Amino acid sequence: MQTNARLPLIAGNWKMNTTIDEAKVLAGRLRPTLDKIDGVEKLVCPPFVSLSAAKDALQGSSVKIGAQNVYFEEKGAFTGEISPLMLAGLCEYVIIGHSERRQYFKESGEMINKKIKAAIKAGLKPILCVGERLEENEAGKTSQVVVSQLKDALADLGNANGLVVAYEPVWAIGTGKAATGGQSNETIGLIRSTVGALTDAGAAAAMRILYGGSVTAENVAEFISQPEIDGGLVGGASLRAEQFTAIVKRTSEIKGG
Ligand code: PEP
Repeated sequence: MQTNARLPLIAGNWKMNTTIDEAKVLAGRLRPTLDKIDGVEKLVCPPFVSLSAAKDALQGSSVKIGAQNVYFEEKGAFTGEISPLMLAGLCEYVIIGHSERRQYFKESGEMINKKIKAAIKAGLKPILCVGERLEENEAGKTSQVVVSQLKDALADLGNANGLVVAYEPVWAIGTGKAATGGQSNETIGLIRSTVGALTDAGAAAAMRILYGGSVTAENVAEFISQPEIDGGLVGGASLRAEQFTAIVKRTSEIKGG
């Protein structure tokens, strides 16, 4: 089911790439071309230290800014962490529970749940990432894994307004091996009904759910043309201004109107 509230969203996750100067250059290159594309919400997620520079470079532009992570406490003795209150003035969105954070930084479902709640409390829009690992996919456990991640992340959430979910099969991230549109559409349909059951059916129907995993300008159409898929979370290809612009343009052509 598609509603008008589901404006397509293309988000670029720059990961741990770009110095502050490089971030300024990339944002500056994206701005003029992305500003000409309508019908798609455009988002870039630079590293924390470049958020301010990206904000300046994109001032007055239609391109929005997100962070790649956040801690769940507002302030205090948590050396090296960044609080939701610090991000609130700098960006609109925040990626939470990316598979790289789950894998390398051992983020648990409980921690991700706390981060989602803290981000919403601070007025940030979370992009919650879920997705199965290769062995789980091969064992036919995709649905089970994704439902379990959603239950953990959204426990006692109450209100899911503003939440975005990204379905990112871990085996497709950075590998050049994207999932198929049909399989992703099916899993994203399951994600929508699960979020509806866990929170609110109306909010789930209006919620954007993205596909992520080796999206390029060449394969984006396969995902965007699916009825349940409302956009993409793009890693590697978001670092190349021409590729990212082409992904946004193709999305606008397919779903922008
Ligand atoms: C990501 O970083 O979330 C991602 C999907 O990366 P890539 O597009 O490089 O697979």
